[in-house]
Amino acid sequence: MINNRDRKQLLLMKKFLHQYLENNIHLSELLQKLDDLVRLTTPKTKWKKVFFDNWLNLESLNTESSGTKRGALTDEEIKIHNLSINNIIKIIDDLLLSYEIVLDITVDNKAQEIASDWLFCPLCRDAWENNSKNPMVICPTCNEGLHNPRYVEERVSKLS
Ligand SMILES: [Zn+2]
Repeated sequence: MINNRDRKQLLLMKKFLHQYLENNIHLSELLQKLDDLVRLTTPKTKWKKVFFDNWLNLESLNTESSGTKRGALTDEEIKIHNLSINNIIKIIDDLLLSYEIVLDITVDNKAQEIASDWLFCPLCRDAWENNSKNPMVICPTCNEGLHNPRYVEERVSKLS
């Protein structure tokens, strides 16, 4: 599973993927940035294998068209390209969605409950509407992962 730092690397990867899809950066630049960022994250080996399978598909297209824009690809190559990009976006999204449901022991800060549907972030001192019972929550203002005060650990709930 991922920690708060991984989550931020994944969000950056998503940002570069969107820049690429909007034609603001070249494929070679995207691949370099994704490669740098993914090496700094700690998801499971299985996840990284799927990631690099797709990354290598794109890398081979990149070499064949020597860094030119997507226009230089054949129909078959475009199919592989689009599938690989979509796969990478999907596994990043899946991993991001998994963040809040697993306790992140690398995080020290805990949100405060200020009303039945509201949490308060001790870092940026902003409040937001939230009624999640997951172990972790993400402050929408400063984008930090925080422990959820409403989360009750399983072993505790079993005792009561
Ligand atoms: Zn915050």
